[in-house]
Amino acid sequence: MSELSSLILEDAKALQPSLQEYRRWLHQRPELGFDLVETKPFVISKLKEYGYDNIREVGKAGVTVTVGGKKPGKVYLIRADMDALPINEETDVEYKSCTPNKMHACGHDMHTTMLLGAAKILKDHEEEIDGTIKLMFQPAEETCEGCKDMIDAGILEDPKVDVAMMIHVAAAVPAPTGTIILPAGKTGLSSNDQFTITIQGKGAHGAMPQDGIDPINAGVHIFQALQVLNAREIDPNDPFILTIGSFNSGIAPNVIPDSATLSGTIRTISSKVREKVKKRFEEIVVSQAEVFGAKATISYLSNCPVFLNDPGLVASGRRALTELFGQGNFIDYEAIGMTQFRVAGSEDFGYASEHVPTILVPFAVGDVKDGFKYGAHHPKAEFDDNYLYKGAATYAMCALTWLSENK
Ligand SMILES: [Zn+2]
Ligand SMILES: [Zn+2]
Repeated sequence: MSELSSLILEDAKALQPSLQEYRRWLHQRPELGFDLVETKPFVISKLKEYGYDNIREVGKAGVTVTVGGKKPGKVYLIRADMDALPINEETDVEYKSCTPNKMHACGHDMHTTMLLGAAKILKDHEEEIDGTIKLMFQPAEETCEGCKDMIDAGILEDPKVDVAMMIHVAAAVPAPTGTIILPAGKTGLSSNDQFTITIQGKGAHGAMPQDGIDPINAGVHIFQALQVLNAREIDPNDPFILTIGSFNSGIAPNVIPDSATLSGTIRTISSKVREKVKKRFEEIVVSQAEVFGAKATISYLSNCPVFLNDPGLVASGRRALTELFGQGNFIDYEAIGMTQFRVAGSEDFGYASEHVPTILVPFAVGDVKDGFKYGAHHPKAEFDDNYLYKGAATYAMCALTWLSENK
């Protein structure tokens, strides 16, 4: 493997100038959700250029190709998301977003580019793959819809995927720019259920409350009753967070409004806790509204499952990264004791995590020490694209290594 790993790193380095150019092209053209009218054709055109003749569109806006298959073996999936955020970019970079209120503020332009780099590298080493590598270019991660859409459309079948890996960049972090981070096994990202509660009351004159049903009163009681979940119903050893992020009702001081809405998120790191919390959440909301004669309905905007890092993939990833960069040239969370699974951000690749063993490899691309002050989803977030080749090589090497170890 060691000869192959140095070839892969060399190939990746040679691609760096073109990868940077692609990333900046994509950065200027951020697109949202499934609406990837420029991004998707760009990806397809590059794959064609690299010699792929098996490009398939999957679901509403996803793209996939496989590479390898000349030698028998398993199937390793590597994934990049392609969508941006509805944010107005406030950076001063010369390749800033050309579209108001759209910005690649989560670095998905970096992911797409690095997976294209891996596509090129792997195509050039196709004969050496023990099995098959499936590339997944995914839309709509930010709305938590794209991964599920591609799974429903068959991305994990034909050929059947055995394990799956993704990279996510991170800026404004205390790690040297260009450092790959190996996560610890059995850690991951929390689930994220975003909800809206609509409370239907009955509007009335502010001087005649007896004629109405006050939805604000019902909403306040719902908010308070939900606090009991943390305080009394869930084991304190099982972390979860319920946040109400908006509460809207009424426009006039002397009118009891007709309805109110509350929206928020539920995050946990265990599927069991998630199930229990959601069930009790729904019971509490509906019954609290009923106590006051109002009617509450709940709708979910997104439901991201828990994302879990598989210990086997972590161990294999460690060997891959050691081959590629040398020991000590990447951060190994297990080696430095960062092994606790906390409630954190979420990732819609959790849907894949429900079907196959998965791993999320973070990639530090903006050291706070170097002045990268703003993290993902901030209008001033910047991501250093001078190390895209490392991400491309990591995608390729993690797949090659695991496949050769699991023939
Ligand atoms: Zn994001
Ligand atoms: Zn993201």
